[in-house]
Order: sequence, then structure tokens, then C-alpha cells
Amino acid sequence: MEIIDLAAIPLSHDLEPGRAFGGSRGMTDSRSTTLVRLETDDGTVGWGEAFASPRAVAALIEDEFADAILGSSPIEAESLADRVYTGDIGGYHAAREALAQSALSAVEVAMWDLRGKAAGLPVHELLGGQRVESVVPYASTMYLTEWGEDPADPMEVAAADGFTAAKIKIGGGREDDRCRVEIAREILGDDAHLMVDYNGNYTPRQAIASIRDLEPYDITWVEEPVPPENYSGYREIRDRVDVPLAAGEAHYGRFEFTRLLEEGLVDVIQPNLGRCGGFAEARFVAKLATTANAIVRPHVWNSAIGTAAALQFAASLSSYPHAQGMEPDPVLFEFDRSENPLRHELLESPLDPTGGTLAVPQSPGLGIEVDETAVDRFRLE
Ligand SMILES: [Mg+2]
Repeated sequence: MEIIDLAAIPLSHDLEPGRAFGGSRGMTDSRSTTLVRLETDDGTVGWGEAFASPRAVAALIEDEFADAILGSSPIEAESLADRVYTGDIGGYHAAREALAQSALSAVEVAMWDLRGKAAGLPVHELLGGQRVESVVPYASTMYLTEWGEDPADPMEVAAADGFTAAKIKIGGGREDDRCRVEIAREILGDDAHLMVDYNGNYTPRQAIASIRDLEPYDITWVEEPVPPENYSGYREIRDRVDVPLAAGEAHYGRFEFTRLLEEGLVDVIQPNLGRCGGFAEARFVAKLATTANAIVRPHVWNSAIGTAAALQFAASLSSYPHAQGMEPDPVLFEFDRSENPLRHELLESPLDPTGGTLAVPQSPGLGIEVDETAVDRFRLE
């Protein structure tokens, strides 16, 4: 099986005027991404996605990766990250850049999709040898909105759709944080997993004060309380609050994840399959996490293709560590609830997170069938 065609496809969907939304660090007025489509000499097609600025990463993939990939076998996915680190692809130092890691991720994931299709196995079985039927989706919701949405509204809808867990945006001020959490906890009920996401908007001192306010609300994890590059801030917060910390969506490559884990800075590590370096790097992070007693819950704010990749990865995760005689933590899986047609219109059969469970596709590769006419509909010129 030889890869004979590579296309990097930037996609975008503009939100209606007045419908921008986001978190404490800013709002977005469009949803965009870049897909990678690989085709082999027997006509098999594999898909991947980069979590990065669409046109820039598409150009990088076509300029720096295409020559290395064309004529290769999908089995070479295993060594692709190393080729970026050595400078064989992208040149010396390129692996330290988020764009290069995102490009690598998209190409690498598409190669694993091909590997799975060649083997007749879903990627999660190739990665972990397990047969996982489903995970527990959590609603990523209660965004800050340009139109001043009542924060209770999207949570009511998520609860009505059967979500039993949720993550909400906070970080806009201490009292506002507490109010939003109170609203979410009231709607979800006492038994639900509730997570909060500061999007790195606070200093350590601000974060510690806010997190202490939230301790009565039984928060499952606190995400990015300070900026991702503020490693000492994570240490300071960890030492002064009693709530699990999570980060990883803005980190990339084995070295950054290793630092977060080896220094014990987070309890939950969150690689995005469109940025972390791909499946092989994510698997490395997952194994390393077991040595640090941390759990892995991928970050997902992608189109359907990146979501499917994260779902295959989540289904491959080890249940170690957990205490004997106690239920392991559920594999909570992020499911964004904000406006994004790329999340459901690109697949012949969209992923369905309603009803409290999300089925893991069992077909070979990523387990999805991409609607290429829909891809063309959102393609950026
Ligand atoms: Mg986040």
C-alpha cells in the first residue's frame, strides 16, 4: 500500500453577524479547520485534521510534508514524528513550532486511518488492543456570547439532550465564575461531573482565589487556570488548592507533555489529536501519564474528523491507575455544543452524543465515512 496523493484542505464557516462566541480570552466569528486527505494506490482514502490556522497549516503541509509522504507506506506513521524532530521533514527546529506539530498531527492521523483500513481494525484496537463500545460525552457549553445569552439556556438544552457531564467557560471575574458554576450545578444536579475552563485568563493569585470559591461545587477538574506556558503558575496553584488541574490543549509534542507530567503539574492531561503530534505521540503521552498517576482526556474542539480521531484515542486508554475495588473514572469525552456545522455535516453518519453515551465507531480506521461534497461546500479558496 503506497500513498499516491495528498491534499490539504482548509475549511471555514462564518457565523452570522452578532453570533460570535468564545471564552475569557476572546471570541470567534467563524469555525475553521484544515483536513488532510491521503489516497493510496489501491484507492483507499485516509483523513486527518490539523487544529491550527487553516490556510497557513495547509500551505505548510503541501510545502514540507507532501514530498516525504508521497510514495511512502501508511505503516511509516510510527516514525513520522521522529522525522519532524530530526529535521528530515520541515527542517531543523521546525518540531518546536505549533504549526509544524499541527501539520504532523493531521498527516499522521490520516496515515493511521489508512493503517486501520488496511488491517480491517478500528484505530483504537490498533493502539490499545481493547474493544471499547462507548465513552461518556460531556457537553462543552455555557460559552461567553456576543449576543448576551442567558447562561442557563444552553445548559438546560444539554441536560434535556441527556448529557450527564459538562464543562463551562469561566474566567471573566471571581463573582461571575461562582455564579456561572452555581447555575450549571443547579441544572445538572449534584451527581453530574462538572468541569470549568478558564482558558488561561488568570494570574496564579486570581486563579487560586476563584478556585477556592468553587470548592463547594465539587468540580471534577479545573482547566487552564493560567496560560499554558506558565508552568510555575500550575505548580503554585497545585500546591494551594484541592481541585484537580487539567491542561494540554495548547501543548504539543512529547517534550512539553513530558514536562507537565514529570513535574506533576496536572492531574488530567488533554492532548488534541490535531495538534499534539498525532496518534503515536498521544499514545506516548498516555503511557507517560500512567507513570505520573495522571489521567488522559483528549481535548476536542475540532470538526467531525478530529473528533473521530480523539474518540478512537479515548477508546484506547488504559484504565490504570485506579484504586482496587473502586470504579475507574469514566472516560469523559469532550463534545462541543457551540455552533459548528463542520462537526456534523462532514460525515455520512454524524456522531451522536445525546442520551449520555457516545458510541465508538467500530469500522476500520477512524470508523467514519466522510461526505466529500460537504467538504467541498466549506472549502476555503
Ligand atoms: Mg479548554
